[in-house]
Amino acid sequence: MAEIPTVATGSAPDRTRTAAPRPSQPVGRLGRLGRLGHAGASGAEVADVLSPRGLDLGRPAGPDWADCAFHSSRQGVERSLERVRAAHDATDEVAASYLANWYAAGVVGPAIASYVLLRRVPALDATGMSMHWLDSGWFDRTALHRHDVTVLSGDPLARGLTAGTPGSVPTAAPGTEPRETVRVVPDGDALRDVLVEAILDHLGPFVGELRARVRLGLPALWGAVAGQCARAFLLTERATGDPATGRDEADAFFERASPTLRARPRWHEFVHRGRPYVGMRCGSCCLAHRLGDEHCTTCPFTDDSERERRMRAWIDTQGHGGLAV
Ligand code: SF4
Repeated sequence: MAEIPTVATGSAPDRTRTAAPRPSQPVGRLGRLGRLGHAGASGAEVADVLSPRGLDLGRPAGPDWADCAFHSSRQGVERSLERVRAAHDATDEVAASYLANWYAAGVVGPAIASYVLLRRVPALDATGMSMHWLDSGWFDRTALHRHDVTVLSGDPLARGLTAGTPGSVPTAAPGTEPRETVRVVPDGDALRDVLVEAILDHLGPFVGELRARVRLGLPALWGAVAGQCARAFLLTERATGDPATGRDEADAFFERASPTLRARPRWHEFVHRGRPYVGMRCGSCCLAHRLGDEHCTTCPFTDDSERERRMRAWIDTQGHGGLAV
């Protein structure tokens, strides 16, 4: 079983900020995501933004996969907590913090990357998604069972559908079952509303089950979700090349997602080796350093100069194209 990539420095609950080899992506299938969006990005670029997490289209088969309805259930949350506790010798609270970050990243990453890069929001119904877990408790792949999406009226997938009237568009071979349900919204504000609603609807039951089992409050648990949302927005710079795009999209997202995601990260912007960077100061502590000596680059309890020192060091470990998150 693969191990979690090592974190050189920074916010341990994500455990993805690493120069570890990227797993191969099913880019051919992801090509169905299309090539759209103000960034002119493609499905392959969505996958690249998510790396080292993987994204699949289709219902997965094989061991260590479960649909998100299970992962969000009492049984699923208890099983995941136990896996993290056992793998990391963690307390209930630390295990819950890790699990909240890891699961949330698997849900929000594909949705936010698709929203920013393709201007399409995939359906996030828990029964229509699966995640693959490692023995460590980290989720390394997300699978969307169907390519059901909400799109803008100018999107080729809209194909004459009227905004506000969802339609089922048969995109598979003639005579086969329709493969995509397309909803059309009139503008970017409405598309953002769909994104916010999809994320909160999916993660609400999961957060509720966690809250019922550990002594972490809703602000801390939703704060973990907010941190992963912010990070997903900033990671779109891998495709756009522009740190401002993800930052501005995130600001609009959090304005709409309050009060649930009120404990959102704040930006920490600076110039490093002549290049602008956008980093984060998280709204809540992730408890990561309880499991090791590493301190988070997003720590809300350090002063700005120390946080920036950590972010500069983290950027330098990544080589060309490194980001502050
Ligand atoms: S106190 Fe700061 S460094 Fe320690 S776990 Fe919390 S956020 Fe990370």
